[in-house]
Amino acid sequence: MRIILLGAPGVGKGTQSKMLCEHYAIPHISTGDILRQHVQDKTELGRKAEALMSKGQLVPDDLILALVEDRLSEEDAAAGFLLDGFPRTLPQAVGIDAILGRHDTAIDGIIAIDVDQKVLQSRLVARRSCPQCGTVYNLVIAPPKVNDICDVCGHKGLVQRDDDKPATIRERLEVYHQHTAPLLSYYRPSGLLHEIDGDGNVDEIFQSIMAALSPAE
Ligand code: AMP
Repeated sequence: MRIILLGAPGVGKGTQSKMLCEHYAIPHISTGDILRQHVQDKTELGRKAEALMSKGQLVPDDLILALVEDRLSEEDAAAGFLLDGFPRTLPQAVGIDAILGRHDTAIDGIIAIDVDQKVLQSRLVARRSCPQCGTVYNLVIAPPKVNDICDVCGHKGLVQRDDDKPATIRERLEVYHQHTAPLLSYYRPSGLLHEIDGDGNVDEIFQSIMAALSPAE
């Protein structure tokens, strides 16, 4: 199964990605996660991306497309994958079609999760993650069982991403509306796009996505 997951920052792409990747046993390919790893490792790409990311702006398309093509040629992506946070612009959408064409394959389904802008802002401000294992929490709707302690690895001290600060959140949502939302019109005629209401219970949203992707399951 080859899936693209679209949606503004904070719609729950990370949570749903995890569940879908477990269900289909496919790798979760998040361009944001890959870029954060480059920033942490201080690679050349990481140095180029860091300033843009901290301002909530997009990393140039050619860098992103090269990164995605590299990742998709790894062995674990041969039988399927989920792309999270990519494509984010029209040139990236055109680029991924060309990449998949070169690999003689294609996308099976595109999921776009939609959540009201006000809800997104409050979700993003409350987002925290574990710096040790990467588990993501929301202090309002999905807090850890014990305050400030990761449920999964027991690390103490959850952190807020730099780009989840209010001014950067506004910029990221603006960038989404300007560059990424137009992808919905690009994908609608393909018949592969499923638009899902993301304002609800995590399991219900997952069921709606599953019903859209695999109606017979
Ligand atoms: P995310 O974790 O998906 O919210 O991404 C965090 C940041 O990484 C974004 O705000 C962008 O600066 C950068 N980024 C991630 N994916 C892309 C992409 N497909 N195109 C351009 N920039 C990206």
